[in-house]
Amino acid sequence: MKKKIIVFSIALILLISLYYANKIMVVSYPYVREIKEDNLTDNVKDYKTAQSEHFIVRYTPPDEKYVPLVLKIAEKHYDSVTKDLGHKPVGKIVIIMYHDPEKMNRDFSLAKGDTAMGIYLNGIISIASPELWISPTKDLEKVFEHEGPIVHEFAHLIVDDVAKGNYPVWFTEGIALLEEYRENGFVWGEYITTDKPYSLKELTYNFNQLDETLAYKRSFEIVKAITDKYGMQSIREILKYLGEGLNLSESFYKVTGQNLEKFVDSVK
Ligand SMILES: [Zn+2]
Repeated sequence: MKKKIIVFSIALILLISLYYANKIMVVSYPYVREIKEDNLTDNVKDYKTAQSEHFIVRYTPPDEKYVPLVLKIAEKHYDSVTKDLGHKPVGKIVIIMYHDPEKMNRDFSLAKGDTAMGIYLNGIISIASPELWISPTKDLEKVFEHEGPIVHEFAHLIVDDVAKGNYPVWFTEGIALLEEYRENGFVWGEYITTDKPYSLKELTYNFNQLDETLAYKRSFEIVKAITDKYGMQSIREILKYLGEGLNLSESFYKVTGQNLEKFVDSVK
């Protein structure tokens, strides 16, 4: 009898913790993220600091000349991105500008050789110095604003803030690309076509194994289709439900009354 009670109790605890797992995750997420955030800024504690109304840039002397540009572009898009996604972060947002892409990869634990123009992780945005990827013959300010990482990574930060870490990668990538489109008219993979678009399951469970360009393009198209049909307000509401611990399909259903898998299949 005792054994039965123990087995029953364990089963009950498991059931309850499964039910509350998402809720526990979203409640503890901000604290865990803050600790990790401190670790990231610790890595650059000897970097210089400059700031504007909403942003702090950490940088090394060779990048001093780019600091005004980074702050200008970040401030220029601050209002519209926070309005689109319905949230203003508390406190100033840290952008670390790396002149050494290998240090950036090390600090943000990216695989070797996987150099990114920008990364969002644990409340911090990091960018590679514009000098490393914009040719001196080009219009630096124009290229940095339109093809650069600021709007994209800032959108990731807001999604993470509101949804408290509770979202699939494809959804945050889709939102980040949608913001690039709304802010800068940038369309990801505009000229690429495919006759076999990825399903919701493939995007949710296999994102990193999919063809990167096609997976990003598909994510962008789905999120854009959601806003075309239900407006930007729907994205803001979905993010709020995610932040309360509902999963994406539940949140989408709450907001639109539709099945997400069916909706994704209808986006061609
Ligand atoms: Zn991204």
